[in-house]
Amino acid sequence: MTAATRLEGRHALVTGASRGIGRAIAIRFAQEGATVAINYSGSESAAKETLEQAREASRQVGGPADRHLIVKADVGDAGAANAMCDQVIGKWGRLDILVNNAGIQSEAESHNYSIEEYQRILNVNLTGALVCSQAAIRHYLGRPGGGVIINCSSVHQIIPKPGYVAYSISKGGLGNLTRTLALEYADRGIRVNAVAPGAILTDINSAWKDDQEARANVEDHIPMARAGTPDEMAAIFAFLASDDASYVTGQTLYACGGLTLFND
Ligand code: NAD
Repeated sequence: MTAATRLEGRHALVTGASRGIGRAIAIRFAQEGATVAINYSGSESAAKETLEQAREASRQVGGPADRHLIVKADVGDAGAANAMCDQVIGKWGRLDILVNNAGIQSEAESHNYSIEEYQRILNVNLTGALVCSQAAIRHYLGRPGGGVIINCSSVHQIIPKPGYVAYSISKGGLGNLTRTLALEYADRGIRVNAVAPGAILTDINSAWKDDQEARANVEDHIPMARAGTPDEMAAIFAFLASDDASYVTGQTLYACGGLTLFND
């Protein structure tokens, strides 16, 4: 099996895939032969753009271009997240890979951070991942062969991010969600891992990514002296989704140009 086809026959749901890292994951999975469901909560046209790019990637490898889906749901709404997973599984009759990628953040000093805002962030970043994982696991347990879950965490799983208390808590929680589910279901063929990006060039970083000085400031603090790209993240998700990672579970892979080394 080559990297180009290692996800052939697999069906994957990627949350928050209308842009950024989620879009890159959907396209990379399609490039590797998978069928993908592209979840979005905002712009349908952005999700359709991901869909088109995934279809094009599939065509290039003779993959299932016509079977990709876009599915609207706010993963911060537990009922909607659960219904979306059931809808995708019902449509295909199977799911093999769940990627909990959707994530949001907002900044305020902790003593002034509104509890409503805290709950909004936690609902999307952490509870949404749990709810989607529950739906995937129920499906995985009902058939032979198990399945895969990959959470998109952050270096802030272990490095505090002052001013982002809800985000930091949510990513810390994702680390333990990953480890707990991995341990609970390891003997039933379900692998659960996380990818923890550092500073990646996506819209979540609009505060600095297109400003030369601000970006240089961020990159000054990265041992590899540059921000990462969504494609570099997608390659790691594809590895963890594939049988190349068949003996890996409960791990967080830090993809951050060495950023966490400062915290060793
Ligand atoms: P992004 O803002 O470009 O993408 C976030 C995606 O999540 C968007 O498609 C957005 O529509 C979707 N989303 C937001 N709320 C949603 C909801 N309620 N339901 C469904 N989808 C929703 O940013 P990104 O960098 O691509 O972020 C992807 C993931 O990577 C996030 O979990 C983020 O925390 C994580 N991450 C990013 C970086 C970085 O530097 N870019 C670093 C560490 C972790």
